[in-house]
Amino acid sequence: MAQFKKTGTLSDFQKFIAEVYGLPDDRLYSIWDILTQQQRFTMRALKGIRKDNREKIKTNLLISFSWLMAIVNRLHINIEEEVWHRFPYLCSYCGKLPCVCKTTKSSRRVSVKVDAKKRPHGLALLQKMFGEIYPTKGRSVADAGVHLAEEMGEVSEAIHNYLGQHLQKQFNEVKSELADFASCIFGVANSLNIDVAKEIEAMYPKNCHICHKAPCVCSFSDVVSLKS
Ligand SMILES: [Zn+2]
Ligand SMILES: [Zn+2]
Repeated sequence: MAQFKKTGTLSDFQKFIAEVYGLPDDRLYSIWDILTQQQRFTMRALKGIRKDNREKIKTNLLISFSWLMAIVNRLHINIEEEVWHRFPYLCSYCGKLPCVCKTTKSSRRVSVKVDAKKRPHGLALLQKMFGEIYPTKGRSVADAGVHLAEEMGEVSEAIHNYLGQHLQKQFNEVKSELADFASCIFGVANSLNIDVAKEIEAMYPKNCHICHKAPCVCSFSDVVSLKS
């Protein structure tokens, strides 16, 4: 039986998704299909923000996060490594803790010194790290949602470019954009006090959250008609 425990790491979650959904994802979904699903559930989370429906936001945020894992699995990217590389307990842009981008309005990304000792072990600690880099005070849930949408667009653009020309620098862009998207998942979750690790554990007590099988046996039409 496949399970994610709230004490698990982001890599554990990536492995869990590979175990449950790797087979149907490979057989039934092109990378464009996976990307469409990630976009679809991200947009539903945004609809939840517009409707002020915390439950809707939470469910769709977690499903969108799961599709993100499907993308990184397909592209053989270690998302935990990429997130740490991009956010080493510092803002990826201004290099500060907490982030000062809003006040300094810097127009160029700084290079930062990574302190490996600060690396969070566990999904919950990773979420806490994002809460410290990007405190929720002074930012609305809608602001966090707009940022999530922006990063979803950048992920799509990066994947589109990479699948067009297959250049290594474009693949590096894909990795960075996927890490930025993950940071925004935590951004929305932090704004609403959603404990991502705990909620993933609750959503996935046993295998697929819909059919409860591993590998998942939900059909393509089950997935496209899923109401959330
Ligand atoms: Zn910053
Ligand atoms: Zn299923």
